[in-house]
Amino acid sequence: MNVFLYIVIFIIGTLFGSFYTLAVYRIPRKLDIVHTHSFCPKCGHKLGFFELIPIFSYIFLGGRCKKCKQKIRPRYLILEILSGLTFLAIAFALKLDVYNLNIEVISKFIFIALYLILIFLIAGIDKEERKIDKGVLYYGFAISCLYIIYLCIMGETSIYRYVMYLVALIILLILDCEKQINTAEVSYLYQVLMLIVIMLINTGIIPALGAILIVILAIGIVKGLYTLKNFLNKSKKESTNMKALYKFGFLLGIANIIIYIGELYFIYH
Ligand SMILES: [Zn+2]
Repeated sequence: MNVFLYIVIFIIGTLFGSFYTLAVYRIPRKLDIVHTHSFCPKCGHKLGFFELIPIFSYIFLGGRCKKCKQKIRPRYLILEILSGLTFLAIAFALKLDVYNLNIEVISKFIFIALYLILIFLIAGIDKEERKIDKGVLYYGFAISCLYIIYLCIMGETSIYRYVMYLVALIILLILDCEKQINTAEVSYLYQVLMLIVIMLINTGIIPALGAILIVILAIGIVKGLYTLKNFLNKSKKESTNMKALYKFGFLLGIANIIIYIGELYFIYH
């Protein structure tokens, strides 16, 4: 029975994955993510029901659009599988068991799934465009409020800490809006800070601060190696692909989820 549950969870994960690929493509282009049917970006061919099934459709169609035979980037397939595996890892960490399901574990799983949507979208868009979408951050704000209400109902004792996070989030939001009004551009820094506060609310102190530490260390090591390489080559020009390093939304998101799954495993096992 448990095998069946885990298969269902994997399939749900891949469905979420196919939604992320669509949303990561559409949100920065300001396209509708709910009502418009999925289509091939090259010929506009609308995808039929069977073409919407994650993984299998990719394999059966040989990774090409049915109509124009344009190659579909394997990135979509990889993201769908990764999303399925992430869901599986969380179910495993939470020790989900058909014979021992309780409302607390189920609601925890649902909140994590809602949070994963946020992290996958932030990480995906940031990796592609190096920006954090404000609409996605508003979504993060909404699920954070929901989670805090849930914690209140469950009798969380340190609720004042969450209220402080919320205040910080609102201040950052105001600062960002003010900057947008004055300079007509959004602040990447404020948005990364908002993301960190959202991480603190939804995953707790260790996964949020641990992610910052790991990202700073990783960037420091890579930058150090580049500097050393440039020094040895006696060139002062900084390599152009260094900019790819500073995708904080992407890096923090990935690190945060990995540490969080690890922490859940230790709590529930
Ligand atoms: Zn096509």
